[in-house]
Amino acid sequence: MTEARILVVEDEESYRDSLQFLLEREGFAVDLAASGTAGLDAFTRDGADLILLDLMLPGMSGPEVFKAVRERSDVPIIMVTAKDDQVDKIIGLELGADDYVTKPYSGRELVARIRGVLRRYAGGQRDIVDEPERLTIAGLTLDPERLQLTRGGETQSLPPKEFALLHLLAQNAGRVLPRQVIIDRVWGSDYFGDTKTLDVHIKRIRSRVETDPSEPSLIQTVRGVGYSFEA
Ligand code: CA
Repeated sequence: MTEARILVVEDEESYRDSLQFLLEREGFAVDLAASGTAGLDAFTRDGADLILLDLMLPGMSGPEVFKAVRERSDVPIIMVTAKDDQVDKIIGLELGADDYVTKPYSGRELVARIRGVLRRYAGGQRDIVDEPERLTIAGLTLDPERLQLTRGGETQSLPPKEFALLHLLAQNAGRVLPRQVIIDRVWGSDYFGDTKTLDVHIKRIRSRVETDPSEPSLIQTVRGVGYSFEA
C-alpha cells in the first residue's frame, strides 16, 4: 500500500516544519507549499491525496486556492483556521471543506482528522451522491418516488424535505456532510432561512429512524461540521 500524499499549504515556516515532521513520522508523504500560488502549482503538477490548506495566506488566499482546486478536482481538503475565529469556520464550511482544524491544534487531533477524511474518501465516495434512487440501508428502505420510508415492516410517507434529507444522508453513508452542503442540496443554494431548520428536520427524521432518538446511532452529529449517516 502506498502512503497517502499530503500537500501542506502554509505560509508560516514553523507550522510547515512541524507539520512535515509530524506527518512523515505518521507515514504520510508530504509536499510543502509556502503560498497559495505555490500550493496550486504543486497540486497541478504532482496531485495529492489530501490538502491541508491554511485559510490565511498572503497573496492568493485560502478560499481562492480552495475554489481553484475544486474547479479541477474533488481531492479532500482540510481547512486550517485561526484560533476561535468563527468567521473563518463559517467560510471554510460554506466552501464545503471536508473538515477543518483550528490553530493551535494538537498533532494527534490533526492526524486523526486526516485519517478520518482519507477513510471517508477511500470508499469511492468522493462525490456526494444525490440520485433519486431506491435505497436499502441499515434496515431502512427509502423510496424516492413515493417519498416513503419502510422500517421494521412499517411504511410511512415523509414530508418532502424530511425525505430528501434522510435520503441524502443515507445515500452518502459514512461520510460527513457539512451543514451548508446539506442545506444547498435539500433546500437549494438560494435558501437564506434560519439554519436551525436543518436541526429541526434532523430531529424529526431521528424520531422516525432511531431506536432511541435521544441517543442517535444512525444519524450522527459531527460537532461544528455537519451530520453523517452511520450504517
Ligand atoms: Ca497563515
